[in-house]
Amino acid sequence: MRILEKGKLLVASHNEGKIKEMIDLLGPFGFEVVSAAQLGLPEPDETGSTFEENAYIKAFAAAKATGLVALSDDSGLCVDALGGNPGVYTANWAELPDGKRDFAHGMQKVEAALQERGANAPHDRSGRFVSVICLAWPDGEANYYRGEVEGELVWPPRGSAGFGFDPVFKPQGFDVTFGEMTAQQKHGWKPGDDEALSHRARAFQRFANDCLDAG
Ligand code: IMP
Repeated sequence: MRILEKGKLLVASHNEGKIKEMIDLLGPFGFEVVSAAQLGLPEPDETGSTFEENAYIKAFAAAKATGLVALSDDSGLCVDALGGNPGVYTANWAELPDGKRDFAHGMQKVEAALQERGANAPHDRSGRFVSVICLAWPDGEANYYRGEVEGELVWPPRGSAGFGFDPVFKPQGFDVTFGEMTAQQKHGWKPGDDEALSHRARAFQRFANDCLDAG
């Protein structure tokens, strides 16, 4: 296992919601965190057909461009009644005709697809958020960590916390959506804690257990 030295760590993302969660999660570990958005790096095209491929595209592009070790997340919402869609295409489902992303539109599109299939009962509306975190070095070496959280799609959207599809996702065992949770409830995790809740925090937990020492 290659050692991840303390120092600058690049979060290879332009998504402010994800960057914030990654910064929260990296908090206890003493890195100097910079993001691809902050450095004005171009956003690479996500041409892969798996979370792993897209996570690598983002992390390696950022690592190669800067010479820094980069951490990316590729994630999405996989709905059983939709054959696992939108999955790796979750961000695309939120795109308007002018190319801008609007998550109210994305949530509406998922709901319309569920309605089309008559998926009204909670047990017909199961799904999961998936996150694959990729740690890539400038020479191309990479490690992958996956996290998933099972849940149910609710309608109408509930809550205004978080980002993306949070207001329509109710994790198993909870009465509230991610959009109704505090940041700490959704993705809070530090060494010594029990299993994290969100897909990204679960992937991060695996990454931390593999590569990181607190302090
Ligand atoms: P990508 O990883 O850049 O392809 O984008 C994944 C998309 O999935 C995001 O733009 C969000 O719409 C959605 N997504 C991923 N993780 C979350 C989350 O934690 N909450 C809400 N939406 C998410």
